[in-house]
Amino acid sequence: MSTFLLEIVTPERKVYAEQVSMVIVKGVEGELGILPNHIPLVTPLKIAPVTIKKDRKEQVIAVNGGFIEVRKDKVVILAESAELPADIDIERAQAAKQRAEQRLSGKRDEFDFRRAEMSLQRAINRLDAKHRV
Ligand code: ATP
Repeated sequence: MSTFLLEIVTPERKVYAEQVSMVIVKGVEGELGILPNHIPLVTPLKIAPVTIKKDRKEQVIAVNGGFIEVRKDKVVILAESAELPADIDIERAQAAKQRAEQRLSGKRDEFDFRRAEMSLQRAINRLDAKHRV
């Protein structure tokens, strides 16, 4: 089966670097399935789980926004943070979700509201990725 190199990188570390047969991401303009030899592109990503197909198995990674870059030689996902399900702390994500929900229910300015909304999305993304394993 033909494969390509997929790298998932954050400012802190390289979260993932493997030969895979397909990656499915949620771009801001919709879902995108990348197979080997896809045309080069760069597009922003939503805060959502990324699905990877490798050796006939599926794997998910919580990717918190960022960009996907499809190059000739490899595919790179660059994000502020990304976690493998095994590294996700459920209690921490549940606490972050609750905090964000509380902040959203209070009266705040638009900036705080947006921040709380993003934080809520990251927490839901982590819980979602963990539950899909
Ligand atoms: P929190 O409010 O719990 O810190 P956050 O969404 O603000 O969550 P980020 O700023 O996105 O956290 O991430 C900071 C660092 O902590 C990153 O390295 C990220 O991978 C890690 N991280 C955040 N939440 C979790 C979690 N629930 N489980 C494992 N790692 C996490």
